[in-house]
Amino acid sequence: MGQQISAIRGMNDIYGEDAEAFNALIQAAERVMQQYGYKSIRLPIVEKTELFSRSIGEVTDIVEKEMYTFADRNDDSLTLRPEGTAGCVRAVVQNGLAHNQIQKLYYSGPMFRYERPQKGRYRQFHQFGVEVFGLASADIDAELIILTARLWEQLGLENLELQINSLGSQQARLEYRDILVEYFNQNQSQLDEDSQRRLNTNPLRILDSKNPDMRELIEAAPKLIDHLDDESAEHFEQVKQHLDDLGIEYLVNPSLVRGLDYYNRTVFEWVTTELGAQGTVCAGGRYDGLVEQIGGKSTPAVGFAMGIERLMALLIDQDKLPSAEQPDLYVVAVGEKVTRPAMIVAEMLRDGLPQLNVQMNCGGGSFKSQFKKADKSGASFAVVLGDQEVSDKVVALKPLRVDSEQKLIAWSELVETLKSEFN
Ligand code: ATP
Ligand code: MG
Repeated sequence: MGQQISAIRGMNDIYGEDAEAFNALIQAAERVMQQYGYKSIRLPIVEKTELFSRSIGEVTDIVEKEMYTFADRNDDSLTLRPEGTAGCVRAVVQNGLAHNQIQKLYYSGPMFRYERPQKGRYRQFHQFGVEVFGLASADIDAELIILTARLWEQLGLENLELQINSLGSQQARLEYRDILVEYFNQNQSQLDEDSQRRLNTNPLRILDSKNPDMRELIEAAPKLIDHLDDESAEHFEQVKQHLDDLGIEYLVNPSLVRGLDYYNRTVFEWVTTELGAQGTVCAGGRYDGLVEQIGGKSTPAVGFAMGIERLMALLIDQDKLPSAEQPDLYVVAVGEKVTRPAMIVAEMLRDGLPQLNVQMNCGGGSFKSQFKKADKSGASFAVVLGDQEVSDKVVALKPLRVDSEQKLIAWSELVETLKSEFN
């Protein structure tokens, strides 16, 4: 026997009920996107490294220390995508999708970051992402937030807090940067090592520090929101009005800056206190400068990404995990000559009742063992065939969830009978 090979640390197999719930979660999100008129886009998992360093920013956690970067056989530097926005922007530019048109796009799939694995933080994790190109107005920022709120409601999730902030224009950020640097310079002794370094390279990043020792210093720092340009302030007001109109509660969190460089104006996060330190389940914002930065024509854009694993953890925590699909009918087939006609009956049922799930007991077994499986499967009925039923061209239809007698039904009438049973 060969030695077992295990998966890579921080990269998980998702199976059983979790896999079913995972799919149900994606489906629910896709359904909401369709409701709002968004379109699917499918993107590569590997991109040129330069795409991420240029868009996410050189001085960020992701680019500095979290990317899975490797040289391919042609010695090109490639990276497993750590997030979806950069690739989506690249695709939109490359395919000319933002030329005089609006794009509302969604996607989902694995992302890769070399982080310290812990609850809610993995090296391969999954995001559901949404990006909108070509709209500069506040209504679309609000729509993205509103549709996430609808998804939480449909999933039955509670206790998610919406935090919003505005980062203003690039110009306002530059001016604020000087103010911030001055503040941190006056308090240099309280900065941790990372922050010392970032003071010169990317001081705004310091506000995003997860170090609890830095919290007080950060909370007392001058706020970007007090230094917004007029247009951004007005834009932010409009976003808030839309949320007010719909009764969506929010907290304006002036320290919310997001971990990536490309954001401006609106940023938002949905946060829970129920998952420990990894409490952000959905995060996004406006990034009007990025399309141009990636070589496209200047195009306003806004988007967000949800962390599927964190949402799953929250669903489990709140006992709202979508349940797996169960069979409605379980075909029990006992006897050497029964399997072949039973397979035909099972297909006939799937033809005639496409809305029902029909599970065939493959692999034989005694009546007793097959009924045990039928019962465990969750099916409402066992469709039972033995030698006698096959020669009479009937099945015994046995209710599994209510205490009532089985009935003999002719094959020719089986579909109609079951149609009325499931009505
Ligand atoms: P965090 O502050 O928790 O590190 P982030 O700001 O790096 O998050 P984003 O890049 O905004 O996260 O990604 C969007 C969402 O993806 C996050 O809010 C989170 O739900 C999820 N996410 C990010 N990194 C991970 C990870 N390593 N494992 C699982 N989920 C993640
Ligand atoms: Mg992170």
